Amino acid sequence: MANEALDQKYPFELPALGYDYDALESVIDVETMKLHHDKHHQAYVDNLNKAVESKTDLHDKTLSQLLGSLESVPEDVRGAVRNNGGGHANHSMFWTIMKAGGGSPSGELAAAIDEAFGSFDDFKTKFNDAGVKQFGSGWVFVHATGGKLEIASQPNQDTPLHKGIEPLFGNDVWEHAYYLKYNNRRPDYLKAWWEVVDWEAVARRYERLRAV
Ligand code: MN
Repeated sequence: MANEALDQKYPFELPALGYDYDALESVIDVETMKLHHDKHHQAYVDNLNKAVESKTDLHDKTLSQLLGSLESVPEDVRGAVRNNGGGHANHSMFWTIMKAGGGSPSGELAAAIDEAFGSFDDFKTKFNDAGVKQFGSGWVFVHATGGKLEIASQPNQDTPLHKGIEPLFGNDVWEHAYYLKYNNRRPDYLKAWWEVVDWEAVARRYERLRAV
């Protein structure tokens, strides 16, 4: 299934979580889930809607099209569309690639991970390292263009969609994603997060995105 939020047009809507607030509690506490989904993600959606409300030329563009052609967005709202549209796209992906009791990758996805990074453990180490090194707020993404996996971090709510690349999956390293439970210990959050990655969901995305 595609990231449906990417196909949304104005007015944009917050997607429902596919699980309860406490589903990922071994890694992400209930309070963080509620704030993150209901407040932070909702605010990105609301602010994106505000930014494009009066720009009727943009109303026939999908979120994916807006983020992929920011130069066509009027300058006075370009920053707002970049930040809030990116926030909407990134979080909409994020909720769908997690579940309780994640497991580990298998099949062609596991083979692609081994080929690109040597082993699943080496992949996690490199991903976590990119997350720790992302200065300030941002995301760590994995791309799967042509089936080849690559780790690429982005600041703020930037996304590889600016270059037309839909990420395979990614982790949110903004403090709002982990601070209540992990405080300043971002490395601990990154390490624990693997427990809730939904590898079946990632594998479905891989099947779709490897061909792009
Ligand atoms: Mn976030």
